[in-house]
Amino acid sequence: MSLRRTLGGWLAILALAACTGVPAAGPAATANEAATATRFEAAKRRPAELPAFLRAMPKGGDLHNHLSGTVYSENFIAWAIADGLCLIVAEHTIAPPPCDAAAGRPPIADAVQSGTAYNRLVDALSMRNYALGAVSGHNQFFATFGRFGAAENGRDGDMLAEAMARAADQNIGYLELMLSPGMAAARRLGAEVGWDDDLARLHRRLIAAGLPAVVAQTREEFGAIESRARAILDCAGAHPPACDVTVRFLAQVIRVFPPEQVFAQTALAFALVETDPRIVGLNFVAPEDDRVSLRDYRLHMRMIGALAKQTPGVPVTLHAGELTLGLVPPEDLRFHIRDAIETAGARRIGHGVDILYEDRPYQLLRRMAEDQVAVEINLTSNDVILGVTGKAHPFETYRAYGVPLTLSTDDEGVSRIDLTHEYVRATVTYDLGYGDVKALSRNALTYAFLAGTSLWQDSRTFRPVRACADDPLGSRTPSTACAGFLRASEKATAQWRLEEAFTAFETDMATGTP
Ligand SMILES: [Zn+2]
Repeated sequence: MSLRRTLGGWLAILALAACTGVPAAGPAATANEAATATRFEAAKRRPAELPAFLRAMPKGGDLHNHLSGTVYSENFIAWAIADGLCLIVAEHTIAPPPCDAAAGRPPIADAVQSGTAYNRLVDALSMRNYALGAVSGHNQFFATFGRFGAAENGRDGDMLAEAMARAADQNIGYLELMLSPGMAAARRLGAEVGWDDDLARLHRRLIAAGLPAVVAQTREEFGAIESRARAILDCAGAHPPACDVTVRFLAQVIRVFPPEQVFAQTALAFALVETDPRIVGLNFVAPEDDRVSLRDYRLHMRMIGALAKQTPGVPVTLHAGELTLGLVPPEDLRFHIRDAIETAGARRIGHGVDILYEDRPYQLLRRMAEDQVAVEINLTSNDVILGVTGKAHPFETYRAYGVPLTLSTDDEGVSRIDLTHEYVRATVTYDLGYGDVKALSRNALTYAFLAGTSLWQDSRTFRPVRACADDPLGSRTPSTACAGFLRASEKATAQWRLEEAFTAFETDMATGTP
């Protein structure tokens, strides 16, 4: 079954979905907002319209998005051809030169000349048509990264340009992208220094062994990636809307390496966030159910906690609870989310699918709601990797407990989706109202790691801070007090811009033919 057919399948369950729509709280709805909500309900009755409606709707941001997984296979193949790479045909894997056709490693340009071969490779590099094969979604998903990895080489800027262009095309104003520059160098340093049970001392030894040089080099790499993306997009010339998408990065620690290497990567991530405003937080990646990830999970959380003591205030988000019963033994379902929050100090959780298998789950849910620990929800990813969909997903439980949620893509290229698709999917599956999707959009900025104070004094009701309380949200001519507040906060500025976009969108929906 293709993903498109899957989409058709869940469109059909609209009629079955229980009504869970929660009215939007907060500032009094304007007439245009009410008219937009009515139009949204009409679109839900003709759900084929939802992609158009939700693509046009401003979406605050995508907070869970691995840069390499953002790229559609077609682009990896095009870059591989342009860069003279090869294809290991039997493994559907792009590989660096030298090519050797006789050994099953021809130039990729030759290997994909027929439409059939090209299509087969697009499938192998993504989740397209995966259900036709004999491989589980989990294994297919994670295998793709190894297959297209060689095509990423030297193309980070191209990947970023693709992500920014696709965001602009869907009215997404902010991206928080995960990527791993410098992590290989950090792992080498970690291997050289070795392990030490005293994590503070281990940190000092890494610094003495050359961590600051890795930090400096990595910051340069981030700069080069941004410059290349902006050059590709022609931001200095034509300046398309993609250039106005705000981009920040999350340093991505790969957790399936020996402890001394994971610690060195984590130390690099903390140092990057501390020294470079473009890098706003860190995350741990690679399958959570991997043997090493499971074995070292508690140790990893302790590493983050220890470094957070040395460098307080570094925002952490963690893949936690991307597990199901059977994928791992039951014991591994009991503590990952709690440990991420309580030991590592995670402010956001990626996935959180197994929350109801945690020890004392209701207490944990209440705590997450109270402490405003947001969950990055990735519905398609959870479907294709874990087989968790619809009512089996804890989306509605999180909402019922008031845990803040955002929608994100987690590899839109690999999964052949986009963020709009995830909004459509959530709307149809959980019968969301316009106020609900607007809240999800706002949450993406409220819980973003952008610097500065939030616009919302109360992030549940969207009541603005006092300085902006008397201003129409998103006004182009804010009062002196509000303008001053916005100037002092990157986050609030982005939030104000989103409100301005909502005002324009709702005016269009109420009065025009967008
Ligand atoms: Zn992820």
